[in-house]
Parts: sequence; C-alpha cells; structure tokens
Amino acid sequence: MATYREIAELIVEEKACVALTGAGISAESGIATFRDKGGLWEKYDPVVYASIDAFRSDPSKYWLIRGDFIRNYDEYAPNAGHLALAALEELGVLKHVITQNIDGLHRKAGNRNVIELHGSLREIHCLKCRRTYLAPKVPDGTPPYCDCGGVLKPNTVLFGEQLPPQALEKAYRETANCRLMLLVGTSAVVQPAASLPYLAKRSGAAVVEVNPEKAFDAADYVIAEKAASALPEIVAQVQQLI
Ligand code: NAD
Ligand code: ZN
Repeated sequence: MATYREIAELIVEEKACVALTGAGISAESGIATFRDKGGLWEKYDPVVYASIDAFRSDPSKYWLIRGDFIRNYDEYAPNAGHLALAALEELGVLKHVITQNIDGLHRKAGNRNVIELHGSLREIHCLKCRRTYLAPKVPDGTPPYCDCGGVLKPNTVLFGEQLPPQALEKAYRETANCRLMLLVGTSAVVQPAASLPYLAKRSGAAVVEVNPEKAFDAADYVIAEKAASALPEIVAQVQQLI
C-alpha cells in the first residue's frame, strides 16, 4: 500500500491530475452503492427497474425504486471525501472530477470542474412537452407528472441509454491529457467509464486507486481505505508540500 506522502508528492509533481469517482465516495454520505452487499441491485433487477425500455413501458417501476435510492436531490450532503477533492481543486492540483455518480455531491462540495457522465438528479424533464424542471424536490406520484400531464423522467442515464456525448468527449480528453488519475470508490465495471483508467495509463499517467476493496487490476498505487478518511489525509500532505 502506498503512503499518503508518496501520493501527495506525485500529485504536486504532476499537477495535471483528474479524479474518476463512483458510488463508493458517497457511501459515507449515507448513499448505498449498487453492487456491494446490501446494494440496490441485490433487491431489484436493474434491467426491469432502471432501463430505458422498462421506463418507456412502465415508468412507475423506476419511480418506485427511486424512493429506496434518493427521491430528492437535497436529501444528502457531501462528506469529507468530496470536500477533500474540492480542496485539491482549490489548491490548483486537481483539474477535473469525472463522476459516475448522479447525486450532485461533488458540486455541492464546491468542485467547479465536474463532468457528470451519468447525468444528475438535479433535473427532471417532461417526456411530453420537454420542459426541464430543477428538481431539488420531485413532485409526489409514482410516477410524478408534469402540469401538462406528461410523465417526468430524471436527467440521468438509464441502462440502455447513451451517455451525454459532450460529457463523454470531455472525459476522454481530460483523461488523455492527465498525468495522474485518482480512481475513487468505483468498481470500474460500468462502461464506458470503466475504460477511462486504462486510457489514462495508455496516455502515460499513473493511476492511484482509493478503495477499501481494490477493484482496478492495473493501479500503480493503492490506498485500501475509505475515501472519507484517505482523501483528507492526502490533502493534508499536499498542503504541507505547497
Ligand atoms: P459500484 O457500486 O459498482 O462500486 C462501488 C465501489 O466503491 C466498490 O468497488 C467498493 O469497494 C467501493 N467503496 C465502497 N465504499 C467505499 C468507500 N467508503 N470509499 C471508497 N470506496 C468505497 O459503483 P460504481 O462503480 O460507481 O458503479 C455504479 C453505477 O451506479 C454508477 O454508474 C453510478 O452512476 C450509479 N450509482 C450512483 C450512486 C450515487 O450517485 N451516489 C450510488 C449508487 C450507484
Ligand atoms: Zn409537460
């Protein structure tokens, strides 16, 4: 296992650092990951409840499990892991956070350069009149409806949907240009995000994984700790160095 000092030295040396985050960074905010034990996909089949085809045929299924996940955008707050990534951006060493999460916690923590690959719970839109609503609170109903009578859909990527092309393009670009990738709290199996750490490596960057259960087989450095304890330690060391 790498030391915090070693990682901090790399970050300060390389500067062009990006973070790729997944559900694990939000675990300590109280949001369950999907694939770990007790996760949502143990209870519900994602293809039946969270695919675009399922949503088109019966949107109530999706909205039913949304209650078990995060019904409203403002239900959760960033934890020390999110705040540490915001501090690294503020210190000028972290260029972008690329996230698979839809909880909006990186933005709430203060990161400005956030690429949300799977969209965000912050917005919903009407499938009929296309109106977009900012949705800190989703209207009641399973499914909820727009004033026009159309069904409301989250602005998140469901299984079987394309990722937002601009976000994906930017993620590829920033990854190809980075010198160091912090890979935090992701099982690194959901494509195309899972290809990004490999792209980073092919482009000559080092990959530092922060995950209590190491998940990426090609990591150059591993911190097998929870994000909310490991990332603040890294920030403390970076602050000493710059
Ligand atoms: P995942 O559930 O497949 O894997 C989570 C990973 O986080 C695991 O490798 C686990 O070991 C690690 N982990 C658990 N606790 C941790 C901690 N405290 N600190 C660091 N790491 C920890 O998650 P994924 O790879 O992000 O893929 C899941 C998909 O589901 C994503 O597409 C994402 O959009 C979605 N999702 C999002 C949220 C959210 O927005 N908070 C939550 C669950 C799932
Ligand atoms: Zn409408």
